[in-house]
Amino acid sequence: MKKPYPLFADLHGLPVLVVGGGAVARRKAAALLEAGARVTVGAPRLDAELAQWADDGRIAWRRGGFVPDWLDGMWLAIAASGDRALNASVAAAADARRIFANVVDDAALSRFHVPAVVDRAPLVVAVSTAGAAPALSRRVRETLERTLDHALGALAALAQRHRARILRCHADLAGRRAFYDWLHDGPVLPLLRNARPREAEQALLAALEAGTGAPRKGSVALVGAGPGHPGLLTLQALRVLNEADVILHDQLVGRGILALARRDAERIDVGKRCGGRRVTQERIHRLMLAHAREGRRVVRLKGGDPFVFGRGGEELAFLRRHGVTCEVVPGITAALACAAFAGVPLTHRGLAQSVCLLTAHGKDAADTLDAAALADARQTLAVYMGVERVEALAARLLALGRAADTPVAIVENGSLPEQRVIAGVIGDLPQLAKRHRVRSPALLIVGAVAACAREHAWFGEPPAAPATTAPAACLAAVEADG
Ligand code: SAH
Repeated sequence: MKKPYPLFADLHGLPVLVVGGGAVARRKAAALLEAGARVTVGAPRLDAELAQWADDGRIAWRRGGFVPDWLDGMWLAIAASGDRALNASVAAAADARRIFANVVDDAALSRFHVPAVVDRAPLVVAVSTAGAAPALSRRVRETLERTLDHALGALAALAQRHRARILRCHADLAGRRAFYDWLHDGPVLPLLRNARPREAEQALLAALEAGTGAPRKGSVALVGAGPGHPGLLTLQALRVLNEADVILHDQLVGRGILALARRDAERIDVGKRCGGRRVTQERIHRLMLAHAREGRRVVRLKGGDPFVFGRGGEELAFLRRHGVTCEVVPGITAALACAAFAGVPLTHRGLAQSVCLLTAHGKDAADTLDAAALADARQTLAVYMGVERVEALAARLLALGRAADTPVAIVENGSLPEQRVIAGVIGDLPQLAKRHRVRSPALLIVGAVAACAREHAWFGEPPAAPATTAPAACLAAVEADG
């Protein structure tokens, strides 16, 4: 097994040759152009896009069959013709002239390999198996693509700009290392991520002025974990979970999601009932503050989205009042997830023009909800925390003039393997919930679109529906009249 020597080549302004005029040659030419090379493409014919590039002067075109003279003056060549024999003769001619050549999909004939790349320029990660297992390089690349923060490029550029100053302030290697550790783990990266480049630079300069050992400042990220399905976590949520020192999570956040977090992060279940009593909101505030003040990166992980019936607004206001650095990572809220996983479009041409997210819980009991919003037959209602309140809610909807045969769907444990969907109409809602022993977490969808739950179920058990209600042909009816 020949082991290659890895290198990054500076091709700016240098002539290079690509042999072939199809899609593969075009991809290679595009990558070379991006690296600043002067690209000549040699082929009898070019595809439409390459021909356009030739017309525009972005590339030069050698029209005709390959002759070794094409290689004169070239620094590098790529054989991308799709014709094995031709590619082999390009490789042989390049070898004879001591020009590095790559033959697409032919490791044995290639003098150099083109790696799979994760681009956070100026940080670039190249992955190669020297052509042995391209699928494996792709897999590794995808993993890195997911885990490497998109702001790392900006961080690298910032460090580059201040390199001389960093060197001056930290002449000793150990001090410099400590500084770079701080730079990589501290507040600069989140500031860049949060589109605050000036503050990021100021933080760097302030740390340089203060000398070594600038203590790491704690921070809190309010993160939405989505409805429970680990695949519905955002990439940003995953990255923040990977950096967390402490995770304060709700009960609704499942084990599958917590398993994705940094192994040695401390996990605190603040949704748990301690001695029969729930951890109070005030105590959650104090816990977040205390951990952040100790310099830790705190993740406050909530079900769904932190700003939808999640008290995220109060937590953000509290933390900001106490000067804690904060960020908010949205999550997929229960209404969106439950509707999607039950096959119910929340808006649908001809059936529903708007959606209202509401809760019939505690202070916001059914009788204080906005009457106009509830009465509008062309508005879908997504009711959170409604399980214990369905009776009062159904009565209110009927009193406001909603038809008793308005479709409803209850989605319990939406997006999870144990998801249940119960379909019916407002008139039967209290009995339905009782008969099927609906338990929290469950979301109630009210409106014409809810009838789709029966027709378009695609996840989990098909919906339970009483035999008495005739199935409404929801989408089909609308499609028929255009
Ligand atoms: N911030 C959360 C909502 C918290 S309130 C969000 O954006 O989704 C808790 C309520 O959300 C539950 O009572 C239930 O009505 C709803 N809910 C959350 N997850 C759910 C799920 N997987 N299935 C059904 N309802 C869910």
